[in-house]
Amino acid sequence: MIVVMRPGAAKDEVDAVCSLIRSSGLEAFVSEGQERVIIGVVGVDIERVAHIGTLPGVEQALRVTSPHKLASLEHNAERTRIAIGDVTVGAGSPLVVMAGPCSVESPEQLFSTARWVRREGAHMLRGGAFKPRTSPYAFQGLGEPALKLLAEAREETGMPVISELTDPGHIELFDRYVDIIQIGSRNMHNFVLLRAVGQTRRPVLLKRGFGATIDEWLMAAEYILSAGNSNVILCERGIRTFERATRNTLDLSAVPVLREMTHLPVVVDPSHGTGRRSLVGPMALAAAAVGADGLLIEVHPDPAHARSDGDQSLAFEEFGALMDELRRLEYLRSNGKREVRPPEVPVGVGGIRERIDTIDEQLVQLIDERARLALAVQSAKGMDAHGHDVERERQLVERAMTRSTGVMDADELELILKAVVRASRSMQRRHAADQRAALRVAPPKERGAQSEPRPTAGGQSEPS
Ligand code: PEP
Ligand code: MN
Repeated sequence: MIVVMRPGAAKDEVDAVCSLIRSSGLEAFVSEGQERVIIGVVGVDIERVAHIGTLPGVEQALRVTSPHKLASLEHNAERTRIAIGDVTVGAGSPLVVMAGPCSVESPEQLFSTARWVRREGAHMLRGGAFKPRTSPYAFQGLGEPALKLLAEAREETGMPVISELTDPGHIELFDRYVDIIQIGSRNMHNFVLLRAVGQTRRPVLLKRGFGATIDEWLMAAEYILSAGNSNVILCERGIRTFERATRNTLDLSAVPVLREMTHLPVVVDPSHGTGRRSLVGPMALAAAAVGADGLLIEVHPDPAHARSDGDQSLAFEEFGALMDELRRLEYLRSNGKREVRPPEVPVGVGGIRERIDTIDEQLVQLIDERARLALAVQSAKGMDAHGHDVERERQLVERAMTRSTGVMDADELELILKAVVRASRSMQRRHAADQRAALRVAPPKERGAQSEPRPTAGGQSEPS
């Protein structure tokens, strides 16, 4: 800390400041300039002179070291990476997507969501069991049975689960069922709860209080860290401002700001951050683009009938589309990491063109053949299932890229493969929707003239 005295401060005033510093077990280094005196304060427990700025003759007291001792980069220059089962969050690990319903409502609702988000490539399952609601009359969550369902969904899908803790008395319960403990926005200042989760070794996702500054948020993290739990993940979920167009104002600048201040992973929740389904996708992509380590996204099989936060929950297909977009962004972000071989220069322009023409023809045939096979998969699974398999798609792209020996670099090759996969998915969806529409509404003569359904604002696919 540096204490700057007012110009012309009396010697008595300087002495009083120095003696307070020394009697607090700290050291004072006095530097006398032409106009004013400056005192450097050195020592571990700077907090003991936190109010020194109010002493007579003092103009201001400036902190030079971070008050967030354990959370700050000064304390730990290496970024923290937290492992939860097979998933790792932070320190440059790939973007982690935690998705699921705001509240666990029933086994069917949870399991259908878990299967869907897993299939679309989510890494973790979220679901509220104890809901902190503004109104005491609103749905408060199913409690322990919901935690059990989450643990069963983890068994089936292999995805670790995250749920919000509201009561320190439930810690043992959460230890039994949950992989990440969420501390909600309303409880960011609940220091008893923060200390309690500091006693466990479970990773904690600490949401930003909707009225909290970044400094206050980091001090809340400090409560958990200083109690002995170093597995803290920060989650930006929007703050309350004068703006009414969104439920909260999602402070995405918090991500790069935190990157300069702390080694802890930072996750973004665009669902609570915006409160509107149509804004979740764009803000999720923006969060990934500014370097968030993960996303927390609400997904519901039937958002219109969700018992909490339906307005901001994505329907299944919307979530699938967002995951596609996120993967495209991820490959853009991870460019230049693969070896590029020098191109072979063939001889004779005429011969080369002929060869290119032949290859183009083969490509068209192969793409057509591939599409027919993809459609066969779709038909085999039935019109309500998704024909594609995210994991297989990813493996295809990775396999092709590691085997790449040509003139295209990995990104260009990936562009092409992903375009093929996306077109194939779009084709599968169109055929499935056509089938559904034909069964439900379309008169027979209109069948076959359906165009691809587009998601509406409400997220439902509408038969044309
Ligand atoms: C939630 O994640 O469902 C939730 C209640 O979030 P927040 O604490 O950010 O409002
Ligand atoms: Mn919610």
